[in-house]
Amino acid sequence: MELCDLPAHKIAEMVRSKQISAEEALDSALRRIDQVEGRPGSLDPGPARPDDAEKVHAFITISAELARQQARAVDRRVAAGEDPGPLAGVPVTIKDLFAVQGLPCTAASRMLSNFIPPYTATPVERLIQAGALVLGKVNLDEFAYGSSSESSAFQPFPRNPWDTSRTTGGSSGGSAASVASGECHLSIGTDTGGSVRQPAAFCGVVGVKPTYGRVSRYGTIAFSSSLDCPGPLARNVHDAALMLSVIAGADPRDATSSARPVPDYPARLGEGVRGLRIGISPDYFRITIPDHDINEIQHQAIGAEIEQAVLRAAGRLAELGADIVEDVPLPHTQYGIPTYFVISRVEAASNLHRYDGVNFGHRTSKEVEDLHELYRRSRAEGFGLQPKLRILMGMYVSAAQYSEQYYNRALKVRTLIRRDFEAAFDSQGPYRLDALLTPTTTTTAFPVSGNMHEDSVLMQYADQFTVTANHAGIPGLSIPAGFDSAGLPIGIQLLGPDFSEERLFQIGHAYETVTRDDEWRKARPKVLR
Ligand code: GLN
Repeated sequence: MELCDLPAHKIAEMVRSKQISAEEALDSALRRIDQVEGRPGSLDPGPARPDDAEKVHAFITISAELARQQARAVDRRVAAGEDPGPLAGVPVTIKDLFAVQGLPCTAASRMLSNFIPPYTATPVERLIQAGALVLGKVNLDEFAYGSSSESSAFQPFPRNPWDTSRTTGGSSGGSAASVASGECHLSIGTDTGGSVRQPAAFCGVVGVKPTYGRVSRYGTIAFSSSLDCPGPLARNVHDAALMLSVIAGADPRDATSSARPVPDYPARLGEGVRGLRIGISPDYFRITIPDHDINEIQHQAIGAEIEQAVLRAAGRLAELGADIVEDVPLPHTQYGIPTYFVISRVEAASNLHRYDGVNFGHRTSKEVEDLHELYRRSRAEGFGLQPKLRILMGMYVSAAQYSEQYYNRALKVRTLIRRDFEAAFDSQGPYRLDALLTPTTTTTAFPVSGNMHEDSVLMQYADQFTVTANHAGIPGLSIPAGFDSAGLPIGIQLLGPDFSEERLFQIGHAYETVTRDDEWRKARPKVLR
């Protein structure tokens, strides 16, 4: 066992009590990067190399120098008897969608490949204040548009540490891969439709989508502003809880950030689940897929192994004294994806207007006739396929003649999805749930360059159990719950009412504790075997 395999909270404890130095924690992570990373993603990768397919490729930028300075600063504070912070000496990675002063911030797009922000995103600033060491910026789908991280303009794309012939999921694929392989202990991602929880599930780590507004979005490149939530990826619930305590809270620079006080999430992790009402819903055990040939929605059961994992987890929680409430109806779940398709594209198209070759990012080097041609060429060259598709779709469904049919209707359905949850969590209602237990994803990790990636609409449907929380603004926690017969991680999800993160962590921690000695917990990612 190397230092980089230990939990983040243990590393911080050891650094604070002078058992190890922050530099030792950093060196361990850097050795692991040497061992598993291969080459980081680049805009000009050239031909594939023999070992590309066996490596993790989580990073776009490795900032070992910056991490070294931060480690030395932590060690100096410890030596001086000062408090170095709750994440003292913990190596972390940052999805390349968050600004970190002085480091390139690419959003995995050619458009921003030359952008070096002069400021740092609020949650990253808070990680650094807490003593974390920023190891680098990790890969993602271009502008976070995707579910496999393959659409990055920076190749090779990240690969799943449990099986490198599989994707990491996405869009926070580099975050999940770096945490799962021990390149770092914690990572910050963003979740707009599932982009923290889905890659966490695919890579066998913990992922948190906090309540909308719990974590400031200041300094995060905007995708769909009414859905975007920065959130932690970690290897255990305690670490995720600790990280959320650090990054959450009011921020004068984000008007949508909540002023609600931030609990010390790790403090009451051990409360247990006795008497909690945890719901299970048939609407989260079936996949909805549109059949465009007959213009109808089809339903299909999810894979038996994933369903079994959820039911087994419910059984374990019941043993601990939770009340499992079955058959909770959440009938609008099936409209989550089409609704997301419309809302997220409208907001994405709007947010992408700022990239025009003038203020930020890529500008064409070709001769242009006028300003409009400068915009057109810069955007045509800078954006990859996904941003272009999403601009087209977003402009179409919000155009004056179509908005009633699409955009305005989607906003109404979004409210109905929120009401499903309100009814389930209502303390006077028939269900009175504290939390809902669901699969995180409809499948385990997609094969690399599988047909899912080629059909981005179909791939989108894989997010149907995560996207509803983004519509409703509620928190979601994905935790590992075993493996399928191919040895791929299965994730289960806990959803709760607004600002119930503390409760979700308690349930997740109870599950983790009761399954601590299970055989499947002994498995190690293939890249480490
Ligand atoms: N897979 C979804 C999409 O492509 C969600 C991505 C996200 O949460 N950033 O839009």
